[in-house]
This record gives sequence, C-alpha cells and structure tokens, in this order.
Amino acid sequence: MASGYRVRIATFVLIGAPIGLQLYSQGHRAGLWALFVLQFLAYPHVLHWLTRKTLVRGWTEFNNMLVDSVLCGAWAAGLGFPLWISVVLFVANLLNHTITRGISGVLTCSASFVSGALASTAVIAFHVSTDTGGLVTLASIIGLAVYLSLIGVEFFAYVDQLHKVQDTLDSQKQTLENANAMLHAQIGKINDLQEKLHDQANRDSLTGLFNRRYLEGTLERELARCKREAVPLSMLMIDIDHFKSVNDSHGHQAGDEVLRVFSLLLAENARAEDIVCRYGGEEFLLVLPKMPLDIARDRAAQLLKLFQEQVVSFGDLRLQTTISMGIAATPEHADTADGLIRCADDALYQAKRAGRNRVTVFDATPAD
Ligand code: GH3
Ligand code: MG
Ligand code: MG
Repeated sequence: MASGYRVRIATFVLIGAPIGLQLYSQGHRAGLWALFVLQFLAYPHVLHWLTRKTLVRGWTEFNNMLVDSVLCGAWAAGLGFPLWISVVLFVANLLNHTITRGISGVLTCSASFVSGALASTAVIAFHVSTDTGGLVTLASIIGLAVYLSLIGVEFFAYVDQLHKVQDTLDSQKQTLENANAMLHAQIGKINDLQEKLHDQANRDSLTGLFNRRYLEGTLERELARCKREAVPLSMLMIDIDHFKSVNDSHGHQAGDEVLRVFSLLLAENARAEDIVCRYGGEEFLLVLPKMPLDIARDRAAQLLKLFQEQVVSFGDLRLQTTISMGIAATPEHADTADGLIRCADDALYQAKRAGRNRVTVFDATPAD
C-alpha cells in the first residue's frame, strides 16, 4: 500500500513547506537553512538510494520511519514546538507508522518522536514558542490536508484493487463450482452408462433375460451359498419343441416372437431369487435356489401347462408350441455347477426322447 519511498517524499515536501516558511519568517541563520535543505530535500532521496537494494525491505522501511520520526521530533523541539507544525510533523509520522505497522506503529512513532525531541532539547536549550504566522498555519493545514488526501487516495486504490481481486476470486470460484457440478453430472452419467453396460453384458439382447456369461459367474456362488446354508437348489433346463419348424414355416421373426413371449412368461413366473437365463438358441435355464426337487417339479409342470396354453400372436399368425424340461437338483444329483447342468441336460434329453412336451427328473440309473 503506502509504498515507503513515495509516501516519505510526499511527507517531506508537505511538512517541509511550513517549516521553510517558519524559518524564513523568523529569519534564521544559514546553518539552520543548510540543515533544512539537507533534511527535507536531500535526506529522503539519499536514504532511498542507500536502502533501495536491501533484501529485507520491510525491516529497512521500518528503520527509515524510525529515523524520520526521530528527526521530526528533533525539528519540532528545535523550532520551539510551533503548534501547527508540530501537529503536522507528528500526524504525518503517525500515519506512516500505523499504515505499515498497525497499532504498534502508534507506540514506535510516539517513542521515536519524543526521543528526537529530547535529543534536540539536549543540544539546543529547551524553548517553547507555539505561535505560527498566518501563512505558516495555512501551509501546515494545506500540507496536512494534501497528505491525508494522498494517503486516502492510495488507500482507496488499495481497497479498489482488493475488491477487484475479490470479484475475480468470486467469479473463479463460480466457474470452479460450475465445472465441479458439470463433472459430477458427467460422473453420474458415466456411472449410469457403466451400470447399463454391465447390465447389457449380462443380458441377452433379444429376450432381456440373463445370458450364459452371467450364469457362469453366479451359479457357483449360488451353489456355494445353498451348500453353506444347507438348503437345496434345483435347476430346470428348458428347450422349445420343434422350434426349427416354427422358423421354417413362419420365418425367423416369428421364431423370435415365440422366444420373447416365452421369456416373458418365464420372467413373470420367477421369484426374486430365481435366475432366469437364456442358455442357448431356444434353450433356457432356470436356477431355483432354496427350492427342493419336488417343488421344482411342480413349478416345471405349471410352466409346461402355461406355455402349452400360451398363444403367440405374430401378425395374423396364432402360434402355439410346447416345451420339454429336464430337472436336476442338489444335493440329490450333483453338487457342482457343471455336474448339475450336465444332469439337467441329460434329463432334458430324456424328455425329448420320451416324446417331448414333458418334464423329466434326472435319473442316474442307466437306461436298458
Ligand atoms: P427339438 O424339439 O428337438 O428341440 O427340435 P428343435 O427344432 O427345437 O431343435 P433344433 O436344435 O433342431 O433347432 C433349433 C433351432 O432354433 C435352430 C435355430 O435356427 C433356431 N434358433 C436358434 N436361435 C434362434 C433365435 O435367436 N431366433 C430364432 N428365430 N431361431 C433361433
Ligand atoms: Mg428345441
Ligand atoms: Mg435346442
């Protein structure tokens, strides 16, 4: 803010004027004039020149201000404490000290000013002549007013700059907040997409049922859980009968519609814990955790009936097909995922062999 050099030069010019006028009005000797020239015209520049390259600027400026107020105290006492001049000398120094050092500036300024005044009275005899002529008083008041204005203007510029910095910071903060919100929204979208992708990777695109990939990941886990909890797990392997002929007679799209309708039927009749999966072309697999074999058999029979009665509409066509099912369960038939699938598949093969449109439970007894 009040940069040392500028403020000091302004101070010396403004307080030098009434002192010069005072010296002139009292007709002082050449020695005092020489001191005046040294103090008010040469000293501030010399001091600045001596200290401008310093590495510890704050400390040097503080020392300079101390010397300034000691000298000003000496001038006030040396001139016999002329009222207006003393006020100008003290107030100007006080402002310099306080704007750079705060409240402690009041103490350092007062102490150095008084010590300057004491030093001066020790050299020249103490005398008091407080009156000043009209011109000196006027110069003092003008000097003080100008000096206060200068400080005020400098302070205003400083506060103005602070406001601008604050405004810039506010707008940067706003920009950051906006960017942050956008980022959060994007992260949300990415998460949704990721979830969707993950889901898509596990789902069959035609029917929306879980795919084989998903089954491979979960069947082992479900089996382990049922084993841990000592509960059964049943599995239904389902295959649509003579599906090839649906495609051949009515087209692939009609076949797709049959697959979709059957899948919906499976999904609608599943419990929350069941895993309904499209295992292959027109093959489906139903994993029924915590369901014993006899209940699974009933469920299968129910499904068989439901699908038998289901009419699939495709354009003008009304299609009706049947399914065959093979059932296997743990712990009765196998206790591994592969073993269980193999047994269910085998049972399904038996159902097909026995004439289709039926449910067959895996039977380990070798056929005759
Ligand atoms: P079976 O009673 O012995 O099971 O006879 P099938 O005709 O159902 O069995 P097959 O294995 O001979 O034929 C299955 C047919 O399913 C062959 C294939 O073109 C068809 N298919 C497989 N995936 C799809 C599909 O996504 N859409 C359609 N429309 N047909 C499919
Ligand atoms: Mg088939
Ligand atoms: Mg098949």
